[in-house]
Amino acid sequence: MADEPAVIDGAAVERWIRAFATAISENEAELTRLDSAIGDADHGANMARGLKAVVAKLDGGGATAPGALLKQTGMTLVSTVGGASGPLYGTFFLRMATAIGDADTLDQAAFAAALRAGVEGVVARGKAEAGDKTMYDALAPAVDALDAALGGEDTAGALQAAADAAARGRDATTPLVARKGRASYLGERSAGHQDPGATSAALLLQAAADTLG
Ligand code: ADP
Ligand code: MG
Repeated sequence: MADEPAVIDGAAVERWIRAFATAISENEAELTRLDSAIGDADHGANMARGLKAVVAKLDGGGATAPGALLKQTGMTLVSTVGGASGPLYGTFFLRMATAIGDADTLDQAAFAAALRAGVEGVVARGKAEAGDKTMYDALAPAVDALDAALGGEDTAGALQAAADAAARGRDATTPLVARKGRASYLGERSAGHQDPGATSAALLLQAAADTLG
């Protein structure tokens, strides 16, 4: 029925994770290029390796419910990505999974709450604050935009608003001086470069807009 509120089920969550993996694969060289400017040139390879393992788990069957899929994804990323981003993305997905529990479907509000829990996990783990030039600078505006759009828009519109906010947050990392992670070792020299983790985080949100609406 046209009036039925859109729900996010396990199949949709799997589409989201697969779309993120595709986006990471397509942008691997760009993520590495960004990390070579202010880090150690491994963010593309780290994420590509992790998402490849995640897709292999999906292809092997197993988890089908939203929470179980996200938990499987988080655990796989923790054990395969390494670097700073492995535990951070891993925690993001694990906290989302915990927030969702064993629900078979999520409405827009439940998804937004789970996303916020995931981002809070990134903060608990990495202690980043707004403006530190990290993935948090893309994630935080996205959850705020999603919350602001709750109820007022269809799910697709709300998720695109979140993805757009993530992209703006990613772009806004360029002039910042890094205060967390490897890039912070460069001090003022980190300014003028887009943050790699904020770039991959924006891909995560665009993948959600493309698949969950
Ligand atoms: P590493 O820095 O160990 O080589 P990656 O290159 O895979 O790991 O990831 C780097 C990205 O991780 C950065 O661009 C930044 O967005 C993110 N990052 C690093 N430290 C933190 C932190 N404490 N909190 C949030 N994000 C962080
Ligand atoms: Mg790196």
